[in-house]
Amino acid sequence: MAARVLRGRYWHPAGNGFVSCGLCHHQCRIPTGGSGLCRVRANEDGRLVLPFHGAISSIAVDPIEKKPLYHFFPGSSVYSVGYVGCNLHCPFCQNHEISQSTTATVKYVTPMEIVVGAKASGCQAVAHTYSEPVVHAEFVIEAMRASRSAGLRSVLVTNGCARPEAAAGLLEYCDAVNVDLKAWDQDWYRNELGGDLDTVTSFITLAHRSGVHLEVTTLIVPGGNDDDTQIDGIAGFLAELSEHIPLHLSAYRPMYRYTTPATPTSTIRRLAGVAGRHLRFVYAGNLWGERNETLCPACGSVLVSREGYRVNTSGLQNGRCARCGSSVPVIS
Ligand code: SF4
Ligand code: SF4
Repeated sequence: MAARVLRGRYWHPAGNGFVSCGLCHHQCRIPTGGSGLCRVRANEDGRLVLPFHGAISSIAVDPIEKKPLYHFFPGSSVYSVGYVGCNLHCPFCQNHEISQSTTATVKYVTPMEIVVGAKASGCQAVAHTYSEPVVHAEFVIEAMRASRSAGLRSVLVTNGCARPEAAAGLLEYCDAVNVDLKAWDQDWYRNELGGDLDTVTSFITLAHRSGVHLEVTTLIVPGGNDDDTQIDGIAGFLAELSEHIPLHLSAYRPMYRYTTPATPTSTIRRLAGVAGRHLRFVYAGNLWGERNETLCPACGSVLVSREGYRVNTSGLQNGRCARCGSSVPVIS
C-alpha cells in the first residue's frame, strides 16, 4: 500500500505559511516544505500533513516482559509494531536506525491490517513500540480503537513526551503503557536527550489517573543519571501516585553515539535499593542472568519468577496470591 499523506491533528497556522505543531513540548514552527524535529510531521502548503501515516518499520511477536511490562498478563506474547522517527535524540538509542532517520524500509498498513496480523499471530494485545509511537498519534489512536473493537488490548511503549491533548487521545484506547522517565534533571533531559521532564511527569500522572496499567522504565546511564538523588526523585514522584507502580531500572550498554562502558550490576543494585525505599516493585533490567521475582506484598511468597524471558506464574491464582489469597497488583 502506498503512502497516504493525511492532514494531522494537534496544530495551528502560525502565519507566513508556517504551521505550529502542538503535539509535543518542542511545539515546532515548521516552514512550508519542511518537517518537525521528529521528521514525520510536515508542512505542505500551510497544512500539517503526515507522510508516514501507517508506515511500519518492524513487526515482531515479543514476550510482554520485553516491553517491559511485568504486571500485565505476565508470560503472554504481544504483537509489536514499530514506526520511524522520534521527538527525542537520545545519544544511546538502541533503535537509532529507525528513530533518528526516516530512510528505513517501511510498509504502509491500515489499522485493520494490524488487527488481522495480531489475530493471526495468536496474540491478545498489540504494542506500539521500538521507535516513538506518540509522533504518530493519529495513526496509533486509530489502531488502538480498531484493536479494542476487535477484542484486542493495546500497549504503548513511549518516552511520554506528548502534550495533554495528544496524551489524552492516546491513553483513551490504551490498556497498558510503559513510560521512559529518563532522569530527574531537567537540564540533562533537555540538553542531552531533547526531552522535557515536566511533559513526561504530566503524561505519567495522566496515565495513572486514567486507570491505564502503568509501568515506568529508567535506563541508568553512567555519568548521566546514575546518582542516588535522581533515582530518589523519580521513585518519590511515582510513590506519590502509587507505591505499586513498577519501576524498571535498566542497564545501559554502549550504543549509537555513546561509548561509555556499560552500567555495572552493582550500580543497578544500589539504585534499586534507593528506589525500594519508596516503591514496592523495583526491577533490574538488561542484566543477563539476574532473577526478577514479584513477591506478594502481604505474605512475601513468589507470585511470578523470571529468568531472562522464562516466566513462571504459578504463584498467581485468579489475580490473587496462590498462597495467602490476597489480591495483588498484577493483571493476569
Ligand atoms: S511531534 Fe514532531 S513536529 Fe510536532 S512538536 Fe513534536 S517534534 Fe515537532
Ligand atoms: S526516546 Fe526512545 S526511541 Fe527516541 S531517541 Fe530516545 S531511546 Fe530512542
